[in-house]
Amino acid sequence: MRKPFVAGNWKMHGSKASIEGLMAGLNAQASALKNVDVAVCPPAIYMDYVKTLLNSPKIALGAQNMAQEATQGAFTGETSAAMLQDFGCRYVILGHSERRALFGETDEEIAAKVSVALQMGLTPILCVGETLEQRESGVTEKVIAAQLDAVIALTGVDAFTQIVIAYEPVWAIGTGKTASPAQAQAVHAFIRDKLARLNRSVAEKVIIQYGGSVKPDNAAELFAQADIDGGLIGGASLNADDFMAICQAASA
Ligand code: PEP
Repeated sequence: MRKPFVAGNWKMHGSKASIEGLMAGLNAQASALKNVDVAVCPPAIYMDYVKTLLNSPKIALGAQNMAQEATQGAFTGETSAAMLQDFGCRYVILGHSERRALFGETDEEIAAKVSVALQMGLTPILCVGETLEQRESGVTEKVIAAQLDAVIALTGVDAFTQIVIAYEPVWAIGTGKTASPAQAQAVHAFIRDKLARLNRSVAEKVIIQYGGSVKPDNAAELFAQADIDGGLIGGASLNADDFMAICQAASA
């Protein structure tokens, strides 16, 4: 039985004032969380601020990205896995489609970061997903297989018991267009089946989140699908009530 996992990706949003309000809302509702793992992923500069405000062990901290270099060095502007560890960070989102599209991160670079995160004791949330053009030209599975294969080649399949996969169709991120539960389930099943061909027991354990315009009113139907184990939430994670309603839908 897999425990659902919901993570909030705040992206480059927030201020000290808005985060104070958001954390007050999350703290107030955190004790009601049961049978669901929850994390928030603030911008790196606010990590320590969030840690100071957070007063529940039921919400973990995650980062939105990290450097390929594990510890330190001459890499201006970067944040290492060791630094994230130092601030009590447990998760790190890697390969988000915005990192791939806007910052040119390749499958191989993302795989290298996943490997570093694992070595440093962080749990990577590995994002995979196809663009609208790729979906319409029928290569969704091929694209996702290549994104996964780059990681498998470096870490081996057994490492996926320590990796969270987030299936995020690029066309559904921040657009208000959600994949239908059936569309999402089909890709989640494909991912699990791909891993099962290499190691069935790993495939049964791996957490596969869905991400892409998840809101309180569509979360329950998505999370009811057999291979959807929670969500990676962007916009709705900036509102404490919405985010907590989504976490409750995952735990139901
Ligand atoms: C995301 O950025 O990972 C995401 C899923 O965003 P949204 O929920 O806003 O579509």
